[in-house]
Order: sequence, then C-alpha cells, then structure tokens
Amino acid sequence: MTKDWKTRTQLVHEGSRRSQYGEMAEAIFLTQGFVYETAESAEARFVKTGEDEFIYARYGNPTTRMFEERIAAIEGTEDAFATASGMAAVNGALVSMLRAGDHVVAARALFGSCLYILEEVLGRYGVEVSFVDGADLDQWRAAVRPGTKAVFFESISNPTLEVIDIAAVAEIAHAAGALVIVDNVFATPVFSKAVEQGADVVVYSTTKHIDGQGRALGGVICGTVEFIRKVVEPYMKHTGGSMSPFTAWIMLNGMVTLDLRCRAMAEGAEKIAAALQGDARLSRVIHPGLASHPQHDLAARQLKRGGTMVAFDIAGGKEAAFRFLNALEIIKISNNLGDAKSIATHPATTTHQRLPDEQKAHLGITPGLIRLSVGLEDPDDLIADLMAALSAI
Ligand SMILES: *Cc1c(COP(=O)(O)O)cnc(C)c1O
Repeated sequence: MTKDWKTRTQLVHEGSRRSQYGEMAEAIFLTQGFVYETAESAEARFVKTGEDEFIYARYGNPTTRMFEERIAAIEGTEDAFATASGMAAVNGALVSMLRAGDHVVAARALFGSCLYILEEVLGRYGVEVSFVDGADLDQWRAAVRPGTKAVFFESISNPTLEVIDIAAVAEIAHAAGALVIVDNVFATPVFSKAVEQGADVVVYSTTKHIDGQGRALGGVICGTVEFIRKVVEPYMKHTGGSMSPFTAWIMLNGMVTLDLRCRAMAEGAEKIAAALQGDARLSRVIHPGLASHPQHDLAARQLKRGGTMVAFDIAGGKEAAFRFLNALEIIKISNNLGDAKSIATHPATTTHQRLPDEQKAHLGITPGLIRLSVGLEDPDDLIADLMAALSAI
C-alpha cells in the first residue's frame, strides 16, 4: 500500500495506527492484555487473530505492531518481530529455526554475546557450528555443506569494521539451501539494503542507531511472513523475549530521525577518519569509507557510505590507549554505539575481554585498538577532542 514511499517518509509515517481519538503522536498502549466483548469473540480471536486484533502483549501489541510494520517497510521485508533486546533477536532468529543435527556456518568476528549463542548454546542442543573468516569467500565455500541450515554474520564486523560481501555469501549459502541471517547493526537500516543483496533474515539491536539516544534495549527480526509468523513468532511468544510497548514507542520516536542521524553521524565519521589518517601516533585507521580500507570497493557498492564507526590503533599499546581515553572530554568512555553521544571503547579490555589472546590477535583486536562510535556533535569539536587526547599520550 505504501511501497512507493521513500525511506524518510516511511520512517515518519509507516505503520501508524490511530485510536478512535485520532491522536497525532503514536500512542503507547501500556496494556498487557485485551478485553473481548463476548466469550464467543474471545474464542474466535484465539482461533484466528485478525489484523487489528491482539491477545496478549507477549504475542503482540498495537504499539509494538506499529514499530514492526515501520521497520519491515524500510528493511524491505514482508514482516518483522520486535524483541526485548538485540540478543533476544539473534537468539530468536537462530534457535527458532534450528534443530539438533543441523549445521550453521558463521563468521568468526562477532559481537561477544552472538559468539556465546553460536559457540555455547547451539552446541549444547546438538547444532554444529563452523567458523570462517567472513571476508574470505573460499572459507565460506569450503564450510557450507548439505545440512547447512543457516549462515550468520555481521555485515560490518565489530570492532575492526570488516565488510562482508552479502551478495557473494548469499549465493554460496543459497546454493546449499541455507538461510542467510545477517546481524546488520553496524551497517544500519539506512545504509544497508541487505535483503536486496540476498539476506533472508535481518536482525538488529535497536538499542543502537534505531533508538539512537541510549535509552532502551530492544531488537527486531525482519523476514518473510512465513518465517516471522510460522517460525519466529511461536518461539518468541512462548519463550517471553517480546519487546515491551513502552520500548516500541521509544523506537518509533527514534526512527523518525534515523535517516537524518545516520547521515550526519556518517559524515562526521568520514571527517574524523580523514583527520586521523596518517597521524604518526596511530599505527592504523579503519573506516570503510577510506580508500585504504581492504574492502573499500565492496563498501562503496554495498553500503554507499562508510558508516558511523571508526577504529584506530594507538601506537603505544594499552597504556597509551588508556591515557588517550582518560584525556577525552566530549567523547565518553562506554560500550554502546550508534548513540547521539560519541563513544570510545577499548575492545581488548571490555567488549572482547573474554577472548583468548591469540583469538584477539587473529581478529585484529590489538592492545592499542580504540573503537569510536561517532555521534551527533559537531565533527570539528570531536576532532579537536581526539587531537587533544592524542597529544596527552
Ligand atoms: C549490541 C549488539 C548486539 C546485541 O544487542 P543488545 O540490544 O545489546 O542485546 C548484537 N549484535 C551487534 C552487532 C551489536 O552491536
């Protein structure tokens, strides 16, 4: 119905439902359940729940439904299921579709909790997982086999911003009959067209750019009606990982400015990466928009922009990195990303602390590595903050 709307229009209007009062802003339906006129209508709704009908907030709610319809529209999927956190989305997408004896191939460079699900949880229930270097297509080809039910990867990896070729991995996976599940957090719904490029299921932590103001945990699984309603929904609604209506309302409000924010943040990231590149105090600067990035051409094709994140390696190692972090004034030390406030993270001692040293080295998580999530501040102020902190080393 609204398929020809452009992203920014969809982000403001798509999925809106109005009550009999015709309220302008999206209402928060803070209700756990719904009242039925008669016993017969209750029975009928449990047999078949109609378009504008709800049973219990764990199953769905008018405010969460607005959010699901809005994100599905911009993602280009038929449907979506909103979850309590990004991890509930990753877990829900994988566990709902997998059975003992199934095989999964995943990129090795993953968010810590994603790695926990793939390495620890799935194995316990008899699902075998093979890990590959996501940028090496030969490794994907070698790992996929009959019985591979899904491939899973982050389209831009954390924290070293490696770009994975969605179209190429999807071709390999689809030839084996495997579903392509993409964690698209770093790429954002604004810059990525993951579904057009071959992803079957896209998951987001909405805690990041979609809220964009560090207020609430949330997640979403986007896919076909068949996958979302027949596979994901039964699992999520019976295991309790659904998004709360209040969170959905926060996310709906975040989405209104999502496109504007992501573009402003990406512009800031480009300026910062350019300003840092070549600085003698850094041994490398990573941003997919830089010509020096190993997958720069792929990033240009797949994302159009380099995204909102920059990573760089401080030549003096951990001690120098800590002195740098402690000298920052505007940029906050934290581990969220996609926030309006710029955030610097030291992955080796925080988000990726758990990894053994040789795994860190393999993933490029060096003692001097800083991950910077560029916020909405003036890029010139951020550059001045970064330069002053580098001088303080
Ligand atoms: C943050 C994050 C998650 C987990 O999301 P939560 O909302 O914190 O549960 C998953 N994947 C990636 C890439 C993330 O950055």
